[in-house]
Amino acid sequence: MTAVAAPTDQEAPELAAFRNEVRAWLDANAERRRPDANEFKKRFTATSETPEEERAHVQRCRTWQHELFDAGYSGIAVPTEYGGQGGTPAQQRVFQQEVARYEVDIGIFTVGMNMVVPTILVHGTEEQKQRFIPRLLNGDDLWCQLFSEPGAGSDLAGLTTKAERDGDEWIINGQKVWNSYAHLADWGILITRTDWDVPKHRGITYFLVDMTTPGVEARPLRQITGVAHFNETFLTEVRVPHENVLGEVNGGWGVAQTTLMNERAMIGGGSGLGFREYSDLAKRFGRDDDPVVRQRLASAYTRFQVLKWLGERARAAAKAGKPPGPESSVMKLAISEHVYENGNLVLAIEGPDAMLYAKDAYEDGFWQQQFLGQWSIRIGGGTEQVQRNILGERVLGLPSDPRPDKTDPFRDVPKNV
Ligand SMILES: Cc1cc2nc3c(=O)[nH]c(=O)nc-3n(C[C@H](O)[C@H](O)[C@H](O)COP(=O)(O)OP(=O)(O)OC[C@H]3O[C@@H](n4cnc5c(N)ncnc54)[C@H](O)[C@@H]3O)c2cc1C
Repeated sequence: MTAVAAPTDQEAPELAAFRNEVRAWLDANAERRRPDANEFKKRFTATSETPEEERAHVQRCRTWQHELFDAGYSGIAVPTEYGGQGGTPAQQRVFQQEVARYEVDIGIFTVGMNMVVPTILVHGTEEQKQRFIPRLLNGDDLWCQLFSEPGAGSDLAGLTTKAERDGDEWIINGQKVWNSYAHLADWGILITRTDWDVPKHRGITYFLVDMTTPGVEARPLRQITGVAHFNETFLTEVRVPHENVLGEVNGGWGVAQTTLMNERAMIGGGSGLGFREYSDLAKRFGRDDDPVVRQRLASAYTRFQVLKWLGERARAAAKAGKPPGPESSVMKLAISEHVYENGNLVLAIEGPDAMLYAKDAYEDGFWQQQFLGQWSIRIGGGTEQVQRNILGERVLGLPSDPRPDKTDPFRDVPKNV
């Protein structure tokens, strides 16, 4: 989901022209989002998706992605030699702002577009860039992220999925978890342990894995929201060609950092709802003159503004050519607090009606889903506690806890499994 931000007053003429062009194309090719019970809300209601509905949804996303690609709106800031448009991040942002007003969804391509493309662009060989990026941009390939493990989430570098070299191939064994869309994906980005005799961050290798390879098994997990969008993924004797290593063997931690920083920046990008939707909800429930609700709505408005300006700051850094850094943790933390507060606000507005669910609830339980969905944003991409550690250590320069696991050979470090 992308944030809906208003264009700035001082938009450069060429950007304003681009915005008009995008609007005209979207008006001709997509339906406007309506503020009432619309498609956007229906997609996030408390009714569980059936496998048929899910397949139909994936097909709709692929078709839309093909249309975007053909029209020149996929990979706007990606170089033309890799199937992109060679445009600017500012144009990409304008497109995101505009498309958020329409009833379209490319959420299943989120990992690919926002995490895989930037990582391959930075660390891939020329052959890898040519091979993977165009197919991703045109919607042919759906990607998933195979990073977290049952014993390695926040402490991701403690992973134990093993890759062993066998001639021109690697043999991979282990288990991943919480892998969004792995049951639907064509390809996965995977990090593995390849050297157990060096400190943990130095023995990791990053692979691009064909999800149809024998030995890859994704089993969907049902979430608190009722939807099963993520998986546990088992890897048993999976053979991956050496040419699918991204970056250097044992240099995978650095490659993963590029992916993770882009992930945080993306999650910090917004929740898809605007302040208006919360104030309308209060009106709908006759709570808009309740002083406590009004106070909380005022706080929500303030948070929306703070997030908007944090976003501007991130965009200014991107414009100056800076990759997302530890500051993206500020955004991630701010959006986490925002969804937490908004979830509670929604329940306070609905009062006893908040106890209803699915079809019985207002707007098919869309607002209950907002409350329950907060944990996906607060945990995914690194928890609030972990973001605070990153901020303390890497932004504020505070001393970190004693961490012998950073220097001892990984083989000797106590494991979570
Ligand atoms: C919706 C969603 C989608 C996801 N999608 C993917 C995906 O596609 N691919 C993928 O690989 N992963 C995915 N994840 C996994 C996600 O990255 C992990 O859940 C996250 O990193 C936390 O790891 P964990 O769940 O193992 O929790 P743990 O690391 O076990 O943490 C448990 C608790 O301990 C706290 N904690 C841990 N270490 C510290 C510390 N050093 N200091 C203070 N507190 C600490 C945490 O904050 C947390 O509260 C997804 C998660 C969610 C919720």
